[in-house]
Amino acid sequence: MGTTEEKQKSPLTILRIAVPVPLYTLFDYLPPKSNRTIESADFHFEPGVRVRVSFGRSNHVGVLVEVLKNSIKPQYRLKEVIEILDQQPVVSHDIFLLSRWAAAYYHYPFGEVINSALPPLLRQGKKAAYQKTDHWKLTPKGLEVNADELKRAPQQQIFLKLFQAHPQGLGVSRLSEVTISWRRVINTFIEKKWLETCKTPSVTGDLKTNKFNKSSLELNEDQQQAVQSVTASLSKFQTFLLDGVTGSGKTEVYFRIIESVIQKNRQAMVLVPEIGLTPQLVQRFKARFTVPLTVVHSGISNRERLNAWLQTKDGTAGIVIGTRSALFLPLRSPGVFIIDEEHDISFKQQEGFRYHARDVAVMRAQQANVPIVLGSATPSLESLRNVSLERYHSLKLTTRAGGAQKPTVQLLDIRNRAMESNLSLSLLKAIRHHLEAGNQVILFLNRRGYAPSVICHKCGWVLDCQRCDATMTFHQQRQKLCCHHCGSQHPMPSHCPKCQETKLISRGYGTERVEQVLSQHFPNYGIERIDRDSTSRKGAMEQCLKNIHEGRSQLLIGTQMLAKGHHFPNVTLVGIIDADQGLFGVDFRASERMAQLIVQVTGRAGREEKPGEVLIQTHHPDHPLLQALIQQGYHEFSKLVMQERLAAELPPYCSMALLRAEATSAELPRLFLEQASKLVQEAEHQNILIFGPVPAPMERRAGRFRAQLILQSAQRIDLHRLLKVWIPKLEKLKAARKVRWSLDVDPMDMI
Ligand code: ADP
Ligand code: ZN
Ligand code: ZN
Repeated sequence: MGTTEEKQKSPLTILRIAVPVPLYTLFDYLPPKSNRTIESADFHFEPGVRVRVSFGRSNHVGVLVEVLKNSIKPQYRLKEVIEILDQQPVVSHDIFLLSRWAAAYYHYPFGEVINSALPPLLRQGKKAAYQKTDHWKLTPKGLEVNADELKRAPQQQIFLKLFQAHPQGLGVSRLSEVTISWRRVINTFIEKKWLETCKTPSVTGDLKTNKFNKSSLELNEDQQQAVQSVTASLSKFQTFLLDGVTGSGKTEVYFRIIESVIQKNRQAMVLVPEIGLTPQLVQRFKARFTVPLTVVHSGISNRERLNAWLQTKDGTAGIVIGTRSALFLPLRSPGVFIIDEEHDISFKQQEGFRYHARDVAVMRAQQANVPIVLGSATPSLESLRNVSLERYHSLKLTTRAGGAQKPTVQLLDIRNRAMESNLSLSLLKAIRHHLEAGNQVILFLNRRGYAPSVICHKCGWVLDCQRCDATMTFHQQRQKLCCHHCGSQHPMPSHCPKCQETKLISRGYGTERVEQVLSQHFPNYGIERIDRDSTSRKGAMEQCLKNIHEGRSQLLIGTQMLAKGHHFPNVTLVGIIDADQGLFGVDFRASERMAQLIVQVTGRAGREEKPGEVLIQTHHPDHPLLQALIQQGYHEFSKLVMQERLAAELPPYCSMALLRAEATSAELPRLFLEQASKLVQEAEHQNILIFGPVPAPMERRAGRFRAQLILQSAQRIDLHRLLKVWIPKLEKLKAARKVRWSLDVDPMDMI
């Protein structure tokens, strides 16, 4: 009796949901029928839980943002949530705040931001729990076995030591890293009653009890200073720029900071550009720390990704090492954030939610009130400017650690010189000299494939990509022509389609071709090529690196993949085949990139006792930027470039946003951008500069025409004020429906 009356009186419960759709609003729903009113709800609706909702014609997994009493929509128009997926919030409060900040800063829909912060399985609505997978730990009996007595069974010895170092247990993924026949050893151990299965993975909660292997290295003064500065402020937010020349021992500095963090029972998050490229770094971490280490990169499965998420959230993981996306992993007790090679543009996501992991990490550290360390031998101009504005605190490591000398660097003027293919005689001579002395040599060329273009010898016809404003690159090994911009591939034609001539010639040099040239000149030496083609097969990179480290190969030719973080003690000569690529690039950051690349590659030479030598081939030996870089180093170079940027009012002296549009005709993007530009002008926004619309540097890509509009302002706040009102208006433009458009805040790539 009276229940209907009561029901009407009782306040409504409205669930405001972030739905992963490209719209800038949140959406209101009613709770599922069983618990619609607050009184009847024994269920607590906690923000951060996932819900399944129907939206448009499909179902989505959204996240509950807020519980309200009222909706702007009338009740009869509200749909019900189909299902509440979690008992406990999966989006923790800090990730919530971070996503909200990032959505506002990058002007990207919150629903999509928060969705991308979750691992794929959670986006699909799977349970936020460990699956029962294979996991083992030592029994008390196993713990007592003396590993040294297993001398005659070296495999068993390795595994026993590993388990003893990880008393909390190990899972399949870690074990299979040791050897593919791990299962046999495990079975033996189980038979001996040394091992038992355990839950994955047991939560220790106490990271301190996990010891680390003390380093025998004595820090030099610079290193000590850096470690002290950071560890002195472990309980407050501060951004440090660890500006240390290559080989100066930045990693060792990270280690010491992390040790202090672990001792405080907190977690460390380390972001690196691309883990696949530097398995060495992960190895160094594993050798140093016995706290559970979680490694997250593009090569792991969705299940492993979810496990990583669970481990960081429940605090099992003491250290997380990951690429860009790992930034959004929840942390139970964050202690420090470290961004290695902070200048690397792979931290910037180039599609969809275009965030910069370094910059978002700084915000995350601020929200968590812990320090963040940005490390690089070649800091980005943005970070250097932040140092001069005293927003970041600079820590300098000026010498190579452990007594290794800086290599000598020399420009090779190749104007009008005799060349063998694209290698000057002096470079070839130097290579021979170093090889004969028993050392290793790295040659660097930032272009993969055999030849960047193919041309008809008779009529000059050039093989262009049908879908892009670009030539096709010839790949000899695959006997294919490939477009590096859209991925199109086709077989090499037998003749010129224009004049029927059969003599088609390859023009220019890629890594494949240089490899061939080298093998003719140095038939008695092992050669490794490292680029995206040669390392795409799983394990290929590891094999390559192994051949180098074990001295089976003496000559290495590679792209920028070779530049990053590798430590090759026996390399004494580094040759940069073409330094001119970066001097005249379309992107205003081209020279900064070139310098970073040259310094990073240079850093691969002479890392231990043997002195290193670097030779740089150029047609522009007098170029002031190149001169500054070679004569005075990266910092003097960066000062020059800063002056140029200041004069041109470019970043880091302004804030920039890029509105891109593309469509199947050239007309549509231009129309849309013109209207967009008009909106800015009409609104009379102060202090905003508009450039364009202009066609993108490569106008046609993958069959679509692309154009862009650049917005700039001296003060970040002016730009963001504009974007906030402008973006919702863009959505409503008719012309917007005919193009694919996107906004890029702080664009790193103008192409
Ligand atoms: P970076 O990351 O700055 O390029 P690394 O951390 O890789 O440099 O260090 C380069 C080499 O110097 C490594 O082999 C490292 O073990 C060694 N090293 C680092 N710090 C010291 C030190 N204080 N004394 C001696 N060797 C050191
Ligand atoms: Zn022809
Ligand atoms: Zn193409």
